Amino acid sequence: MGNEQTRGLLIVLSGPSGTGKGTVVRALLDKRADTVLSVSATTRAPREGEIDGVHYHFIDQKTFLRLIEENAFLEYAEYNGNFYGTPKAAAEAQLRAGRNVVLEIEVQGAGQVMNSGADILSIFLAVPSMEELERRLRGRGTEDEATIRSRLALAKEEMKQAFRYQYVVMNDVVEDAVMRIETIIKTENMRYPRMEKTIMEVIESC
Ligand code: ADP
Ligand code: 5GP
Repeated sequence: MGNEQTRGLLIVLSGPSGTGKGTVVRALLDKRADTVLSVSATTRAPREGEIDGVHYHFIDQKTFLRLIEENAFLEYAEYNGNFYGTPKAAAEAQLRAGRNVVLEIEVQGAGQVMNSGADILSIFLAVPSMEELERRLRGRGTEDEATIRSRLALAKEEMKQAFRYQYVVMNDVVEDAVMRIETIIKTENMRYPRMEKTIMEVIESC
């Protein structure tokens, strides 16, 4: 016990592409110094303004397949023709240092983490309607028409997976969604295993 660090929370945040995961996570990280984002690896080409090592680790397919062989990913998935994966070692180091780690990932990968038996906090970020999702995807202006259409088709199936998550957060207004996620984090931190160290310190000080 003693100076042992309480592990951070592994937070799986998922939901259809365009629902606002990136936007909500950025706002959450601005508010919480104890929370970091896991930087994924992907075989997708960088979008304008995306920086290697910051937004993603951009790697080729051969390297991605080698990393799968080496068991270097906590989870990975093929999504819309590209591979995406969460590097295991970096997330583990942050958790051990007591920081919450957010995995902003699509639903197949989220399913893998949920089935792995790992101690996680799973949150599904929902969008108020499919029309609004289409507006957001188009408004972002980062995908061509064919990609928007295939992402919208996938979104309906992805919404059906919401029941697998511990929490569903509606992303109607960004600030409200962030506040809901903060409430969840605060509540999770009051579960006994996370309060045990504090309780023991009080007992030992008597
Ligand atoms: P994701 O990471 O889930 O693919 P993004 O964070 O890129 O989604 O958001 C998609 C688009 O929707 C962006 O243009 C973003 O500014 C916009 N957006 C995100 N959240 C909201 C919201 N609550 N209301 C309106 N627009 C939003
Ligand atoms: P995009 O191409 O828009 O950056 O990402 C496409 C989808 O892949 C998004 O839903 C995004 O959350 C998801 N994604 C990003 N990184 C990972 C990852 O490491 N693993 C999985 N499974 N999905 C990811």
